[in-house]
Amino acid sequence: MTKDYTPLWKEIGLDLAKHDGLLSVLSDAYKNIYLSQKNRPEGMKYFDFVISEVHGLRIEELYEAKKEKRKIIGTFCVYVPEELILAVDGVFVGLCAGAEVGFEEAEKYVPRNTCALIKAFMGFKLSGLCPYVELTDLIVGETTCDGKKKAYEIFDEITKKMYVMEIPNMKNEMDRELWHKEVIKFKDKLEEISGKEITLDSLKRATETVNQKRLALQRLSKLRAYDPPPISGLDALLVNQISFYDDPVRFTMKVNELCDELEQRVREGKGVVPKGTPKILISGSPFAIPNWKLHAIIENSGAVAVGEESCVGNRNFRELTDESFNSVEEGIEKIASRYIKIDCACFTPNNERIDNLKSLFNELKADGVIHYSLQFCTPYMIEAFKIEKKVDFPYMRIETDYSMEDFGQLKTRVEAFIETLK
Ligand code: SF4
Ligand code: SF4
Repeated sequence: MTKDYTPLWKEIGLDLAKHDGLLSVLSDAYKNIYLSQKNRPEGMKYFDFVISEVHGLRIEELYEAKKEKRKIIGTFCVYVPEELILAVDGVFVGLCAGAEVGFEEAEKYVPRNTCALIKAFMGFKLSGLCPYVELTDLIVGETTCDGKKKAYEIFDEITKKMYVMEIPNMKNEMDRELWHKEVIKFKDKLEEISGKEITLDSLKRATETVNQKRLALQRLSKLRAYDPPPISGLDALLVNQISFYDDPVRFTMKVNELCDELEQRVREGKGVVPKGTPKILISGSPFAIPNWKLHAIIENSGAVAVGEESCVGNRNFRELTDESFNSVEEGIEKIASRYIKIDCACFTPNNERIDNLKSLFNELKADGVIHYSLQFCTPYMIEAFKIEKKVDFPYMRIETDYSMEDFGQLKTRVEAFIETLK
């Protein structure tokens, strides 16, 4: 880190001793998993820097934004419209939920057999380890899966900051109407807490900013289809994870710079693995930072991950919001219709996910799909079976969590799957 942030962490109210421990574990994991990779693009240096300052410089930026009376809005799901947060000059941050942290504390509030993502977001807060949660003015939840819905009730008692958006379970006309009303309600809430009214101009600028970020991520995604791919799956995953908490304009610029370099690599036929290396598309539950386990296993088993059909991945940037609106009301309609297209397994039916997975598989010229569900994540675990029966490409299902206990066993299964692709 560029300086000693201890006074800031103290002021925010972190548990300093535990926090030091967390940073040291993270830094070791990052060195082992990321910095040990060979042939990384130069452009990844920016993202390495962001990670090294994840609890430093970025926290200081948020702290400064707060002093300027900007609102910090924390989210856990790609259903929360980022455009509206930016339109009130707010700061959008995805909250930490990707490590086995504070589970003992979390299990005092939720059953052991709750998915790791839920236990992690509770655990980070209960252990006083997440500066982002502490800095938020509002934490936005959603009625997606039952686990999250019920956990948010408890999280509200703990943080007193929750705001929950109702996400329908189906996509019929009446569900779309409900969702449209929810988006309007969220706009009103943001205007109330920020004291700023969303104007046509602010909404247009915000929509363009978020679309530019999505376009940069789409550009990165397409480059992964080349053989050999110019970037590892681990690095591309990291960029996607960082998209949830970096400044969006700076982030977009850095991703585009990275893509310029990757295009040059493609022209030179330079890749991170030898040509012909089996290419895996990962599908399923989200990979909240710092969950790098499956990618590390795949890329240490003779294959390369070329895409994520996941909320930390393609599901986050696949659709743009239509920018051709001439009033705030029309803009809200466009935003609502963009977000309802997201094909989360919490919906029923969710057949478009199978079509989207097939298209992505073809677009990325993948050789096989590994479906990844977090243990106890019923929507994705069940949908994984349905997908298996509807696709004709090599496909493997795994269920895991954030612990390293099953690392060896998973590696053996993944290696066997990769063998079949050669
Ligand atoms: S998987 Fe579903 S609930 Fe989870 S972040 Fe994605 S859309 Fe939200
Ligand atoms: S991973 Fe599954 S169970 Fe966990 S929060 Fe997301 S949708 Fe819910």
